[in-house]
Amino acid sequence: MSQSEGSLEDSLRFESFILPVLKDCNEFHDVCFLKGPDDHQCSTLKAEIPISMPCLSSSVRYSSTAVNKSTASYSYVIVGAGSAGCVLANRLSENASDSVLLLEAGPKDKQLGSTRLSWKIHMPAALTYNLCNDKYNWFYHTLPQAHMDDRVMYWPRGRVWGGSSSLNAMVYIRGHAEDYNRWQSEGAEGWGYDYCLPYFRKAQTHELGADRYRGGDGPLHVTRGKTSHPLHHAFIEAGQQAGYPFTDDMNGFQQEGVGWMDMTIHRGKRWSTASAYLRPVLSRANLRTEVSCMVTRILFDGTRARGVEYQQNGQTKKVFADKEVILSGGAINSPQLLLLSGVGNADELRKHDIPVVQHLPGVGCNLQDHLEIYVQHRCTQPITLYKAQKPFHMVKIGLEWLLRFTGYGATAHLESGGFIRSRPGVPHPDIQFHFLPSQVIDHGRVKSNIEAFQVHVGPMRSTSVGWLKLKSKDPFDHPIIQPNYLSTDTDVWEFRECIKLTREIFAQKAFDPFRGPEVQPGPATQSDAEIDSFVRQKADSAYHPSCTCKMGSASDSMAVVDPALRVYGLQGLRVVDASVMPSMVSGNLNAPTIMIAEKAVDAIKGIPSLHDPGVPVYQPVTLETQR
Ligand SMILES: Cc1cc2nc3c(=O)[nH]c(=O)nc-3n(C[C@H](O)[C@H](O)[C@H](O)COP(=O)(O)OP(=O)(O)OC[C@H]3O[C@@H](n4cnc5c(N)ncnc54)[C@H](O)[C@@H]3O)c2cc1C
Repeated sequence: MSQSEGSLEDSLRFESFILPVLKDCNEFHDVCFLKGPDDHQCSTLKAEIPISMPCLSSSVRYSSTAVNKSTASYSYVIVGAGSAGCVLANRLSENASDSVLLLEAGPKDKQLGSTRLSWKIHMPAALTYNLCNDKYNWFYHTLPQAHMDDRVMYWPRGRVWGGSSSLNAMVYIRGHAEDYNRWQSEGAEGWGYDYCLPYFRKAQTHELGADRYRGGDGPLHVTRGKTSHPLHHAFIEAGQQAGYPFTDDMNGFQQEGVGWMDMTIHRGKRWSTASAYLRPVLSRANLRTEVSCMVTRILFDGTRARGVEYQQNGQTKKVFADKEVILSGGAINSPQLLLLSGVGNADELRKHDIPVVQHLPGVGCNLQDHLEIYVQHRCTQPITLYKAQKPFHMVKIGLEWLLRFTGYGATAHLESGGFIRSRPGVPHPDIQFHFLPSQVIDHGRVKSNIEAFQVHVGPMRSTSVGWLKLKSKDPFDHPIIQPNYLSTDTDVWEFRECIKLTREIFAQKAFDPFRGPEVQPGPATQSDAEIDSFVRQKADSAYHPSCTCKMGSASDSMAVVDPALRVYGLQGLRVVDASVMPSMVSGNLNAPTIMIAEKAVDAIKGIPSLHDPGVPVYQPVTLETQR
């Protein structure tokens, strides 16, 4: 992600000039005079029942599917309007005879009905802003990491409409076909690549048009970068000079190689799931959304989930689901909510004096994440994004984006990247690169002051596995997070290779016109021990926590949900988000999470899964060599 825009706020002072700018835009009308459909909906639909009221009498159940003021019960109650939750809200409310309530702990992703006013979310280049504070961010931290110099790692997660898709770096990557075939062999029956690909396609509209791999009419718009920056060309060229293939679509036939990345950006704006799936359907009468409401407990009748309890504006409220409660709170919150509700390891629950509804020891276990590190060089030419941080350029970039949604504000700048194999014998890529013509320091929280470029590099299928547990039974307490980073020798070895292989790419001829001294790790870091020490000091989360409510077969005692994403041993309760992944995919997680939600919808509706057998997938010519 781009550090260069990290201090836009100081210089742009949007509040002081934004209204004059908007005055000439259609959106000004929207802001000042019209209420968007969502605003209308929220002002007219404010009906929860206080906790003390008797519930579920037939008189308070909805009699028509249109949501109305006395509604305290819905067909589906969805917890969390993130990557998965927005997909569910859209697809489940397609059926007018079902009513849907979407509950989100954070606020909407607009101010006064305007996405421009929420430019820190919607301007792609502004992405580091929301990592600097907790306005739209849960701001988690891990336990000190024993194998990383006891560092406490910072884990931002989205708390706003769109969830983490409103905070993320907008890289659109699906992972490798073999990741999904592995899921199937891990007990996720019906989740092989043949069954997942149709849902990736269903979700997507790719600007390059539909084909066997790409979608052409889905809500999620995906585009390529428009800057054609010389450093991106240099990275792709250098990768090939180092012996890796060029791939024209790392989400299609061939993941392996270097090439141009896809991004969830549409017409110059972040295309979160709130933009893609939620806002377009807010006028549906059978969909209701509530914001700033923290779900604190699932309500059970025996082993059947009947609804949820939540807190909003200092009030405790309850709401009920006739068909299902669906947890889409993400990889931290979904297991936390299950634990708070008595679903998890019985011994752990008793320690917190939480009555056990279902002993499920896997809840919160199997925590996996990608780690990454930045290898950085000074650039000998003044062409990096450093200039874009100067006040004059920031104002120019900001104005161009506000008026036309074009220019340097309209991209996340991670426009090139690649996937390679770390060693001979590895069947498909296990190392990922994101190239950035800029320098990032501490998640973008520290300003860069040099002309520099970097590659984000990290292993894709690390073997270190962690867990999360309740700190207390207070739902507002963050759970204890233990990712156990770099706790295996394999993971340490792979990271060492990441550094060596990246250095080899940066040493190629294509970088000759641009390559200045190495900033990080730096020329003094050469031996294996020195590289390992650098990794311990500098590697950081790639923001992909997942797998904490893993999907698996009934015979797997650590599985939390079955392949239809129903929680084992309970009725009327599913988990649909990144937590259900049985294991990490080889790439970023937003697109896979959206795919999971698209596929879950068919399972919820009782429709057989889409299936597209026999789609060709690239195989390396030989596994006897690394490239
Ligand atoms: C900084 C950052 C950069 C990233 N970059 C990329 C990238 O470039 N590409 C990519 O593919 N992936 C990226 N990711 C990862 C990806 O965005 C996430 O894995 C994905 O969005 C997870 O989706 P989810 O539905 O599981 O959870 P989320 O999208 O996090 O949604 C969970 C939602 O539930 C809400 N919620 C949680 N608990 C409750 C509760 N108790 N009551 C009410 N609401 C609740 C949350 O506020 C949130 O809105 C990034 C993530 C981050 C944080």
